[in-house]
This record gives sequence, structure tokens and C-alpha cells, in this order.
Amino acid sequence: MSTYISESLRNQIISTDLSRCCYCLTTEANSGIPMTYDHIKPVSKNGETSFENLCLACRTCNEFKGDATEAIDPLSGETVPIYNPRTQKWTEHFTWSFDACWEENGVNMNELKLLAPTLYNFSLQRAEQKIRYKGEIFPANYPANESATPYIDFFQYDTRTNIRKGIIAIDLIRWAPS
Ligand SMILES: [Zn+2]
Repeated sequence: MSTYISESLRNQIISTDLSRCCYCLTTEANSGIPMTYDHIKPVSKNGETSFENLCLACRTCNEFKGDATEAIDPLSGETVPIYNPRTQKWTEHFTWSFDACWEENGVNMNELKLLAPTLYNFSLQRAEQKIRYKGEIFPANYPANESATPYIDFFQYDTRTNIRKGIIAIDLIRWAPS
């Protein structure tokens, strides 16, 4: 089976996908790494080289996906087919999320436990943080892994690629999650 992607097919895919990765929506301009053409159903599983089975994907997403066709849904714990950008809607399957740290210095812990227990108590479901803050927020110096890397350092690197990421500071006074 041919995996050659003609120029007209490439152009059709680029314009349909708005030059963005269909999985994480990043652009090439943003990541600085050339986009790839992902076989939604992998070639190794007889996926066709056709518009219906191809989409733009950044290298990170494409490599992470590999030749998988199923994955575990983090919410239900069930094995489900991987998102298909040609037949499914992104917003029905994904949501923006972020990871952040907060610095304990100068924080009144008693008030924090009262006002925002999910920020402090890890026995509470992280899902609750996601619902409330649209992301996960960890104490900066809390160990993130078995080698006790504090979260503030842990978040500096992409865990999949080990490439250094940028981090930003959030002005909490003006921050209003919605
Ligand atoms: Zn991507």
C-alpha cells in the first residue's frame, strides 16, 4: 500500500486543519518543529493514505500516539478508540488544562485549608481541582516524583520529550478562572 501523500492532498490537509496539530492544536510557528501527516488509523493496521485517514499532527503528538488505536480514558478508566479528528469534534473530547505551582512562603495555611482545601490536600481528587480551576495546582516544593523533584523543577521539562518548556508566572490578584 502506498503511503505517498501528493502535494494536492497535503495542501488539502493543511488548509482543512488550519496548519494546526489536530490533537493539541499547536501550530508549526508555535512549536518550531515541522508538522507531520498522521495516519489516523496506522499504516501498520492497514490505514489508508487518504484525506479521511490523514491529519496534521505535531511530532510530539504523532510519536506519542505511535501505532495505537485505543487508549485509556482518564475519566472513566475504560479503553476507548483514540480521537479521530476527521469524524469527531475536538471540543467534545478535549479541554484546555494547565499545571501550576504555588509557593507556600507567606501563605496562611489555616486559611488556605479552609478556603481552598483542594490546593493543599492531595487525598482530595485532582479532578476537583480541574473542575474548579481548569487545571492542576501543586505546592511548588512538594515532591513530584520518586526522585523527589519539587514540582517547580518538575514542570520545567516536558515529561514525554524531556525538552525544556517555558514557564509563566500568574498574577493571582487579577486571575479569574472561568
Ligand atoms: Zn500536537
